[in-house]
Amino acid sequence: MKKDFYEILGISKGADAAEIKKAYRKSALKYHPDKNPGDKEAEENFKLAAEAYEVLSDPNKKAKYDQYGHQAFDGSGGFGGGHGGMNMDDIFSQFGDIFGGGFGGFGGGGGGPRRAKGSNLRIKVKLTLEEIANGVEKKVKVKRKVQAKGATYKTCTTCNGQGQVMRVTNTILGRMQSASTCPTCGGSGQILDKKPSEADAQGMVVEDETVSIKIPAGVVDGMQLKVSNKGNDAPGNSIPGDLIVAIEELEHEFLKREGENVHFDLYISFPEAVLGVSKDIEAINGKVRIKLEEGIQSGKILRLKGKGIPSINGYGSGDLLVHVNVWTPKTLNKEQKQFFENALTDEHFVPNPEKSEKSFFEKVKDMFS
Ligand SMILES: [Zn+2]
Repeated sequence: MKKDFYEILGISKGADAAEIKKAYRKSALKYHPDKNPGDKEAEENFKLAAEAYEVLSDPNKKAKYDQYGHQAFDGSGGFGGGHGGMNMDDIFSQFGDIFGGGFGGFGGGGGGPRRAKGSNLRIKVKLTLEEIANGVEKKVKVKRKVQAKGATYKTCTTCNGQGQVMRVTNTILGRMQSASTCPTCGGSGQILDKKPSEADAQGMVVEDETVSIKIPAGVVDGMQLKVSNKGNDAPGNSIPGDLIVAIEELEHEFLKREGENVHFDLYISFPEAVLGVSKDIEAINGKVRIKLEEGIQSGKILRLKGKGIPSINGYGSGDLLVHVNVWTPKTLNKEQKQFFENALTDEHFVPNPEKSEKSFFEKVKDMFS
């Protein structure tokens, strides 16, 4: 018995398009193969979620499914039997809709006869916070399948170059006509005519290629960028797949990123807090000098506008937030101890927050509003 598509995505039958999309996005991120290397169960869940989304995101398919359940698709070659209907490349080609555009049209090819497309390649790129803040061009080596020199192709006679064959099946709903990938040519519409000796059965060889990837400022860990046509080539008159680049953010030695803002923990001594001090802060693009006025309180947050990470959409930059921590000495010599013992009864040392000084909770509220 096949699991219900709504159950797979963890939503109710009344879910609208936005909820369906959101639920799938969540599942896809959770079960993404890059996040769960070698985990067969995660891969299964990843495929199931993709299949559920494929149906529920299409109003026609959704209506059929709502009325007839999984039977609506039995025998159509699409969703019958197991869930062999979608391969990983199909799934990744859905991602444009799900993870937002901005990187030049994932998926969605428009109408017209479809040329066969090679499979996608995937790589991971590790970036420092500096590279993320400034944008960077990375050169990566990929092994691409390309057509061998001298390989020639001819039109597939099984499908007459269409790449698809029509199939009529009898179901409980009556005769249903459906298209499926041509078994002879695998969907390319063409078969190998002349095969060079070093090529595989489809006339392909694997070649190393250096690909340059322009990474815009402001990317986020886990984000996927697409470099069009830098995936594997397919046989015959086809277009290459894409190179999918997953972003991984390396941890910074001093700075902690939170969206577009970055945080820095500054420690100052008790005398520095009392007398005031200038300090060099490790910002993203080098040091920034800040002046702390005398009598600064521990817990104060200084905001350096625009010294954070640029917005990926190009709307300005986040801030650098400097958290002031006053370091309390753990040991004292005799004179120092004497000094502080005297200070205990000195009214200068009695806490007396001014009304204008906000409490910790109010400051936190301010920061996130
Ligand atoms: Zn064919």
